[in-house]
Amino acid sequence: MDLGIAGRRALVCASSKGLGRGCAEALAAEGAEVTILARTRETLEETAEAIRTKTGARVIAVACDITTPEGRTAALAACPEPDILVNNAGGPPPGDFHDWERDDWIAALDGNMLTPIELIRQTIDGMVARRFGRIVNITSSSVKAPIEVLGLSNGARSGLTGFVAGVARRYVSHNVTINNLLPGSFDTDRIAKMLDAVAKKSNVSVDEIRAQREKGIPAGRFGQPAEFGAACAFLCSTHASYITGQNWLVDGGAYPGTY
Ligand code: NAD
Repeated sequence: MDLGIAGRRALVCASSKGLGRGCAEALAAEGAEVTILARTRETLEETAEAIRTKTGARVIAVACDITTPEGRTAALAACPEPDILVNNAGGPPPGDFHDWERDDWIAALDGNMLTPIELIRQTIDGMVARRFGRIVNITSSSVKAPIEVLGLSNGARSGLTGFVAGVARRYVSHNVTINNLLPGSFDTDRIAKMLDAVAKKSNVSVDEIRAQREKGIPAGRFGQPAEFGAACAFLCSTHASYITGQNWLVDGGAYPGTY
């Protein structure tokens, strides 16, 4: 299927690795011009070069922290009129809510709620004027099935989800959609670090912890970033103009509910 987005400009946040990179690669493979960003220049440049070589697409790399006003200014200076915006940032740390002070909550809200809302605010009117826009927010399956130790994430991402549900309906008649993609467990650095931490704490090998986790997923395995990227690319395609305000799980069947 031709996704119809060749030549479109895509701003993909937090994309030197993991799910963001998966999305950037999938969009570049469809011929979009992709602006990627992350805080560490070296890794970012390596990723940009790898995507260029693999897809032949134009890839712009901006080293910045997207959760800061300066970072967002730099990203939008490099890609001032995106047709596609993929919002993403690192997830908040796990923990016990007794230990979280106001600053911890503000950092989580900044990263996983207010940054995407601000980027939407700064880009959506241009999308409306050009009569094409696709916004995808990478959230988490924990929005539907909260994970207790990820309270900061559950809270901040739920705030974004509520905001998107309200605002998405206002733009769909202009061919501008906003959807959330909810990852379950994917093979990324973040998951590797989490498995490592659990293994050390419980004195069990990483392989064993991984096997236990995989057993709990109907697909019997973790997802690959490329699979996540393919779902993102479809939501960004011309074919997805009738899909908006949705929370789309990509989790190998892990969430057991109907809704
Ligand atoms: P990852 O650690 O593999 O990659 C994160 C990417 O974001 C890296 O490129 C990193 O450099 C970049 N990044 C982080 N903070 C940034 C910032 N402030 N500014 C710019 N770039 C930044 O993580 P991932 O597994 O791809 O996760 C991406 C998001 O999805 C996170 O919010 C995570 O909590 C969420 N998530 C992931 C999973 C999973 O299974 N991997 C599951 C549920 C939710």
